[in-house]
Formats: sequence, C-alpha cells, structure tokens
Amino acid sequence: MRAAPAARPVPAGDAVARLLAWFASEGADLPWRRTRDRYAVLVAEVMLQSTQVARVVPFYEAWLRRWPSAGDLADAALGDVLALWHGLGYPRRARNLRSAARHVVDHGWPDRLTDLPGVGPYTAAAIRCFADGEAVLPVDTNVERILARRFPGGWPGTPDGEGWAAGQALMDLGRLWCTARTPGCGSGCPVREGCPAADAGSVDEVTPRKRPQGRYAGSMRQRRGTLLGRLAETGRVPVAADPDAAAGLVADGLAARDGADLVPAG
Ligand code: SF4
Repeated sequence: MRAAPAARPVPAGDAVARLLAWFASEGADLPWRRTRDRYAVLVAEVMLQSTQVARVVPFYEAWLRRWPSAGDLADAALGDVLALWHGLGYPRRARNLRSAARHVVDHGWPDRLTDLPGVGPYTAAAIRCFADGEAVLPVDTNVERILARRFPGGWPGTPDGEGWAAGQALMDLGRLWCTARTPGCGSGCPVREGCPAADAGSVDEVTPRKRPQGRYAGSMRQRRGTLLGRLAETGRVPVAADPDAAAGLVADGLAARDGADLVPAG
C-alpha cells in the first residue's frame, strides 16, 4: 500500500485571500463601516477600546447624531460629553476625544496622528486603515492573537486596494472565530486550512497572555463611574458622597468643585 502523499503546505497568502472572500460575503454590517470619515472612525475606535462591539453601537449612533463632526464636538460642554459617554466606562476617553476634536478644528489633522490626545499607535493605524484605506494593519490584542496563531511568520501582505477590508476582516475573525478562549478551529473557521497553530495543536500555547484585570466591583473605577453617573443625571453631587472619588475626578478634569459640591466640568 502506498503512503498517502504529504499534505501540501498552504501559502499564508492563500489564507489572506480566503479571509477577504469570507469577509466580503459574511462581514458584519456595523455603522462605522459605512463611513470613511476620519472623525467618525476616531469616535468608533476610541469607543471600541475596552468595550465590546454590541455595546458600542447605540453609543456610537447617539454620539454621531449629536456631534456629527469634529467641529460640533469641539464646541460641546464636557459635562454633556461625559453624560452621553456614561455607561461606556473609562471616561478619560471621552475627554480626550473632545480635546482631539478641538485640536483638529484649530490645527487640522496632524501628520503624526499620535500627536492627538488619546490617540496611540493602534488608533493612529486604525484611522489610516479604516478612514484612509491605507494598507496598514491596526494591531490590537485580537489581531495580535490571530497573527501569533495563524500567521506566525508575520502578515504576508495586503493585496492592493484591500487595506480597509483586510483590517476589518481581521477584526471580525478575532471577534467571531479566532477568539481568545474558544477559537472555532474545528467548527468552521474560514482560514482553518493550513493554520499552523491548529495543525500543531498549539493554539493555546502560542496565544499571547493577557494582563489580568483587577476586579471592578468595589474598585475606585467603579466609584468614580457611580459619581459621574449621578452627575450626569442631576448636575450636582455633594463631594461628601465619595470624597476620594470626587478628588480623582477633579484632578483628571472630569468634574469641577463648586463649594461642597461636584459639578460638571466645562
Ligand atoms: S484555525 Fe483556529 S487558531 Fe487558526 S485562525 Fe482559525 S480559529 Fe484561529
């Protein structure tokens, strides 16, 4: 009996083509995928940092309805911005967004996007990819995980004109299939064929470890969020309700003192 021929190695570039084909037919319809406007992409990307897609959608739509351009946001009161943001967490992101909008209004978009408040290398790459359509991969923890598992030799390259689609396809792959805890290697992953980690049975071993997050319940983050929520509802909260959390909010410019009360920052 003749031995079965060895499986032909699948070039990594084939996986990129399959990924793009899969995304073209199955990619999620998300509101920030219907725009190439830099400001709208920035809003989406900042909201998506640390917050899940389904949770972001209503906040993103409400935000763009209220402040459809950087100029609109630049003129907004910080208290209003924080009130709309409430529920997304990490409110410094909202303050930085308004600061970035003001920078854009006053000086235009900087050549180096990381010069904008709150914009790090990932968000800068996301704007170049998702707004400008450049072949730049925005590498967040999801994409980092996919690269480690599926493309351990490095990203094989983006086909011409496919920068936006490649970046978005990787986002969907990381969210729907190549997830951190339960990757769908055996249940239909669109780039399973030739996946080095799945073939070697080493998916878990090659997955980059996430830094453990501290508990939210009872944390200072939760206490600050509670105060900001009350402030958004009532416009005035006694500092005595939580003096330490109030002091932190004032120090970060997220609220202001008015006598014994905390009031929205201007
Ligand atoms: S086969 Fe598994 S490890 Fe490989 S890309 Fe798909 S989900 Fe990720």
